[in-house]
Amino acid sequence: DHVKVTRALISVSDKSGLDELGRALADRGVEILSTGGSADALRAAGVAVRDVSDVTNFPEMMDGRVKTLHPNIHGGLLARRDEPRHLSAMEAMGIEPIDLLVVNLYPFEATIARGAGEEEAIENIDIGGPAMIRAGAKNHAFTTVIVDPEDYAPLLAELDAHKGATTLPFRQRQAAIAYGRTAAYDAAVATWMARYEETPRRVAAAGTLAQPMRYGENPHQKAAFYIDGSGRAGVATAEQHQGKALSYNNIADTDAAMELVAEFDDPAVAIIKHANPCGVATGDSLAEAHGRAFDCDRTSAFGGIVAVNRPLDAATAEAIAAIFTEVVIAPGVDAAAREVFAAKKNLRLLTTGSLPDPKRDRRMMRQVAGGWLAQDHDTGRIGAADLKVVTKLAPTEDQIRDLLFAWRVAKHVKSNAIVYAKDGATVGIGAGQMSRLDSSRIAARKAQDMAEALELTESTAQGSVVASDAFFPFADGLLAAAEAGARAVIQPGGSMRDEEVIAAADAAGLAMVFTGMRHFRH
Ligand code: 5GP
Repeated sequence: DHVKVTRALISVSDKSGLDELGRALADRGVEILSTGGSADALRAAGVAVRDVSDVTNFPEMMDGRVKTLHPNIHGGLLARRDEPRHLSAMEAMGIEPIDLLVVNLYPFEATIARGAGEEEAIENIDIGGPAMIRAGAKNHAFTTVIVDPEDYAPLLAELDAHKGATTLPFRQRQAAIAYGRTAAYDAAVATWMARYEETPRRVAAAGTLAQPMRYGENPHQKAAFYIDGSGRAGVATAEQHQGKALSYNNIADTDAAMELVAEFDDPAVAIIKHANPCGVATGDSLAEAHGRAFDCDRTSAFGGIVAVNRPLDAATAEAIAAIFTEVVIAPGVDAAAREVFAAKKNLRLLTTGSLPDPKRDRRMMRQVAGGWLAQDHDTGRIGAADLKVVTKLAPTEDQIRDLLFAWRVAKHVKSNAIVYAKDGATVGIGAGQMSRLDSSRIAARKAQDMAEALELTESTAQGSVVASDAFFPFADGLLAAAEAGARAVIQPGGSMRDEEVIAAADAAGLAMVFTGMRHFRH
């Protein structure tokens, strides 16, 4: 299964490491075929190359759209060397075998990530490159395909270890990487083109390996992290300044944290544990918001993940660093804050440059046994004008502000979600319960526990507002909230028993608004 490499085709957009590779192959007696820009670069580095146009007897044309799309190239990549009919076809048509293909593609992902226009994006869709990669990788019994400059050194090591040949396991591994690359590439194109298709009917599922992980959700599960090329600001594209590599659970929770704080215009802080917030607050400053988010549930905040929606300053960094925190993610960090965090070696600090746009649509995917579910991202948002007052009592302006805040938080809490809030901060969160009543009770108990811990005379839910991610099917959950001290309620409405629930709210002296929109999250 050793295949000696005698002829290589090199066609690369990313020219890093190209000179060294070209020289190393030439030194090992490999003939090099190459396309326009790659051939120029190799010649400039003193490497002898043959132009692909010389092999195809066609000039490169149509602005490079057609360079390598020719039977002399694809025959050379696809021919079986153990099949007499393939060998005689090569002989008859004058096709020379290509044993090694080195290609990396037009930078489509980078082009769209920097917000390029339609025409430029389309020109950056590589056609000949993926065609060759797929041909060579299919024929990995004979052809070696390299798609990443990181694999140049392992390739040369392989050649040196086997007298200028590659082994089947090496070619198989590179073929898997190659198809992973073309799948991710086409997925990026398809995702970008989804702008032409309104419903998430057809979704591609692939990405570029960003980080192999020691383990997944649990130590006995293997795992890896992939990026999808969309360039969305967040954990996938963030820069890490300090601390160990992120774990699987860190990445999931950091994502949830960043998406949540991006919902708010005022300085906002979210503390996440197991994908749910245990405290969210806005404030005049990040430091103030952090203190109020922490006061929602100090016990759960231990070992949490913190996201903020403003560049970190020293005061906020001090407040965060005072509590054991696994990850901090922010759009930026100033020098003084960096210094504060530097003393906490284990804390992972990430910056994203900007905030993800909560209104920008994207596809969400989730695996089930035997298939995938795909849906639009929950970009649903409501404002004060969308609220329908259904009780005798209308909420005050302050209550409306808190109702909208609580509602926006509830969108990021696993169902059944109940969120108590006061003055732009959560004071009790009930998440992930199978009954709305239980979520309501848990949220109220959290508020009571915090009041006791802070030695207050009454529950922090006293005088609060409450949000429910879906309608109250019965009056009981609503009455539990009233008992806990909530004075105003926001919920979608639409239950068969709406009238009963509204009557209960009136009897309890509550103000209640309907949103007409639900925010289930599973
Ligand atoms: P070069 O800089 O060598 O002129 O071009 C290298 C790039 O061209 C590589 O990214 C390769 O994938 C791409 N490429 C090679 N053949 C073709 C082709 O026939 N059509 C298109 N659109 N791209 C090609």
